[in-house]
Amino acid sequence: MQHTLTFADIQNVKRHAKHLKHTYPELPHAKRLDIAAAELARVRNYHELNRQFDEVINRDVDMPGSNSVSHCRYCDFRFAADHKPDLKEHRDLHERFMEVHEKLGYRPGTYAERERMKKDGYQQANHAEQVEDRVAGLLMITRGWFDRSFHDAVSDGYWAKHPSFEEYTAMMVPHLETIYPALAAIVAERYGRTPGVIPKGNTYWPAR
Ligand SMILES: [Zn+2]
Repeated sequence: MQHTLTFADIQNVKRHAKHLKHTYPELPHAKRLDIAAAELARVRNYHELNRQFDEVINRDVDMPGSNSVSHCRYCDFRFAADHKPDLKEHRDLHERFMEVHEKLGYRPGTYAERERMKKDGYQQANHAEQVEDRVAGLLMITRGWFDRSFHDAVSDGYWAKHPSFEEYTAMMVPHLETIYPALAAIVAERYGRTPGVIPKGNTYWPAR
């Protein structure tokens, strides 16, 4: 079976092409990319590699419905599939999510996934019999908020500075206390309590 192309694969080919400058100083960069693609990815040329990578990305794209808008289930971007600048914008954004996913082993949920987390989380926090399960419900709600904040961080390129889920949860404890005081006390014991970072009524980590 053929290996599915990753963001790292493409980066490796680009990096290899740069190194080839020493071996083939007379060749234009495009030609060195072709050689790098052939050596590392065993494809005819860089164009072919690029085309295959587009295919990988497009597997996550739902074709346009009646309103002619395509939607990506992976990075949550909506765009006109017949509009070139949109395609470019989607690919750039999609690559950022792939990069984070490959580096952290984690991708923030899309809007639909986050809404599901929050819905299930509230259900569990309100109705689960065991305290432990209610705490898990509250953490699921928090994960929905975290993912939205982290999604923005990936889109806008500051994800490396964004707090981890554990750090973020500690920042959200003051807010959790207003909705589930007893459960929030348990969360605070495990994750800590960091007031004053995320403003009241907000769920976004303030980057700036
Ligand atoms: Zn996408």
